[in-house]
Amino acid sequence: MDIKNFVKAGIRSLSAYEVKEIPCKVKLDANESPYGFKGLLKALKFIKTNRYPDPEARFLKKFISRDFGVKPENILHGNGSDELIYYLITTFGGPVLFPIPTFSMYGIISQALGEKRIAIPLEKEFDLDLEKILKAIKNQKPKLIFLSSPNNPTGNCFSSDRILKIIEVSNGIVIVDEAYQPFASDKGFMPMLKDYKNIVIMRTLSKIGLAGLRVGFLIADEEIINEVNKVRLPFNLNSLSQAAAVEVLKNKKVLKSCIKSITSERGRLFGEMAKIKGIKPYPSEANFILFRIKEPDKIYKGLLKKGILVRNMSGVVNNCLRVTVGTPEENMGFIKVLKEVI
Ligand code: PMP
Repeated sequence: MDIKNFVKAGIRSLSAYEVKEIPCKVKLDANESPYGFKGLLKALKFIKTNRYPDPEARFLKKFISRDFGVKPENILHGNGSDELIYYLITTFGGPVLFPIPTFSMYGIISQALGEKRIAIPLEKEFDLDLEKILKAIKNQKPKLIFLSSPNNPTGNCFSSDRILKIIEVSNGIVIVDEAYQPFASDKGFMPMLKDYKNIVIMRTLSKIGLAGLRVGFLIADEEIINEVNKVRLPFNLNSLSQAAAVEVLKNKKVLKSCIKSITSERGRLFGEMAKIKGIKPYPSEANFILFRIKEPDKIYKGLLKKGILVRNMSGVVNNCLRVTVGTPEENMGFIKVLKEVI
């Protein structure tokens, strides 16, 4: 029996999202926060392991609603934002439009669900190609448009006037994926929710220290939330993650100081990288820096040999590697080793 013959055609040709466990001393490859949260044992005390989690994550939504000034009815929780991308595409279908390069899951999930993908290359400076996107909206009428801003892996925010134009012109839903918004200098698109019904803001706690807990959420018009909620698995967010996320959100001071340290380190890291001959780092509004370098494969391997793991993006952006901002010591170590390897 050939299992492949049983698999749907769209899945057969799909490659799984690869997360290799690569042994290293300093892990700067996955845009995680270098700062985890300890002392979450308190959260464990309230968990009834024999009971299913709160299917509506009510307590967590209360905190999110307070933080973002929206009603709990405007929030939908996910097991990471990955799951919410799945739900959005399941609910509304395609065509699904996104720029490239961007976060790969928009394309992978669209393909897994058999939906048409419209991938529009970014302009040279990594901003949205408005003309091409508007043309695609007119001719192909995408139902969903995913815009990661700040964008992974390029690190920049897209021009807000271009995003706004897309929202205004689109007959579909525009998802502004603000996974990296906590590190950005502008306000993001949350304030626009009151003016446009077709915006969805997607957020995650993964980049600010909770990647291991898998907590993401959407903020949108209640009607959109209600539709997407129909495809949500009833107990998608486990009790431990709900309780621990609440503990972390209660402690704004710690959260803010971790973010501040990362953004100030990002500035320092960028400055150091810019001084190295043969490297072009791209300005970033996120917790990582994309940089162009000759022979990226060689440099990637050289760094890894000395214990430093970054992400090789050369298959996605020509001659580029991506480094996540770590602790001051990790960043210093990265710069030192990078100079040696070059
Ligand atoms: N959106 C973007 C732009 C990302 O880079 C990532 C993670 N790499 C995600 C969403 C997924 O985050 P989560 O851990 O919440 O699934």
